[in-house]
Amino acid sequence: MSVNKTMLGLGSKRSVIREIFEYSKIRANEIGKNNVYDFSLGNPSVAPPKEIEETIKNLLNTANPTLLHGYTSAQGDLSVRKTIAESINTRFKLNLTENNIYMTCGAAASLSICLKALMNEGDECIVFAPFFTEYRVFIENAGGKVVISKPLEPSFQIDIEDFESKITPKTSAIIINSPNNPSGVVYSEETVKRVCEILRKKSLEYGKDIYIIADEPYRELVYGDVFVPYFMNYYENTVVCYSYSKALSLPGERIGYIAVNPQMKENVNVYLAICGAGRSLGYVCAPSLFQQVVKNCIDAKVDVNVYKENRDILLNNLTAYGYECVKPDGAFYLFVKALEEDAYAFCEKAKKHEILVVPCDDFGVKGYVRISYCVDKKRIENSLPAFKALAEEYGK
Ligand code: PLP
Repeated sequence: MSVNKTMLGLGSKRSVIREIFEYSKIRANEIGKNNVYDFSLGNPSVAPPKEIEETIKNLLNTANPTLLHGYTSAQGDLSVRKTIAESINTRFKLNLTENNIYMTCGAAASLSICLKALMNEGDECIVFAPFFTEYRVFIENAGGKVVISKPLEPSFQIDIEDFESKITPKTSAIIINSPNNPSGVVYSEETVKRVCEILRKKSLEYGKDIYIIADEPYRELVYGDVFVPYFMNYYENTVVCYSYSKALSLPGERIGYIAVNPQMKENVNVYLAICGAGRSLGYVCAPSLFQQVVKNCIDAKVDVNVYKENRDILLNNLTAYGYECVKPDGAFYLFVKALEEDAYAFCEKAKKHEILVVPCDDFGVKGYVRISYCVDKKRIENSLPAFKALAEEYGK
């Protein structure tokens, strides 16, 4: 057999999330969709803002077909990049230009490109548990090694001492995801400042640049008055991987961007390496129509109150039934301590109550499960008696 063994392995094995999702479809056929409480996937349940549909219609009726369906520059349409740079500048008091923005097919592509651009074979990339499982795939594909920093419990903020101990002369990047999938935690400004201080100190000590890759698909999904620090405001060597998948409920359209901090000494070379990595991975010319859509809807927002309401119903009721939950300030996931040590065994028991949740061992934290609450409110309300019965089975 001549195919690449690593790729064969990746393609043959579904992620634990996909596995559960596939089971939910089979089970829905057997007992009816409304009787399966599927909380596995992070597919936004809130409709995209009205402006999106209006803008698409408008563009189709008025714009030149080449603009909508033709190739753009490899790094994206210039006027789109300019609009995004100006929007970032207004929001975060920065000084980006179109030459700091690279349009991509969502955060997954952005991460793959940044890792390929910033790492050399054998370099280390630190991730903070719990972390999005695909980081491992992207880092290893870039020839890097995954180094996991453990969280502080029960807050699930970053354990600063552990983080510092994980930095070595081989560390070239760290990935930070806030609001976090799967914990819903937003890293505090104090945590962010400490992380940046340590990176500065270690960069000096090892005589090399260490990059922050800020993975921000959930930046806009925060509840209440929660401040989400923008890493470029705290650390020069930052690249931001942004996506409209969750922010505008457009995951199937595959649109996002990479932003390079212009305050970075090597910003021109980093941007060129990003262009090179995009080229080598085939991530050039992100979907043209959706580049234009995001340009025309630069200030559009989804209604996060729908997610907030779901969060509150789940958090309040599950806590009352005896579950230990991490209060999510953002994203649309509830991180819950399994009622036994083995999260897989707990998920199997939950399945008997038709509750489908994801064990978080692959996210780097044992003994926890993730509940995606980006679902119809009815599903959450209908599932409550099942969650209660499950807790009672454990003597709660
Ligand atoms: N990063 C995190 C933390 C995610 O949760 C996801 C998707 O769920 C991604 C990246 C990938 O996002 P996209 O759909 O924009 O590629």
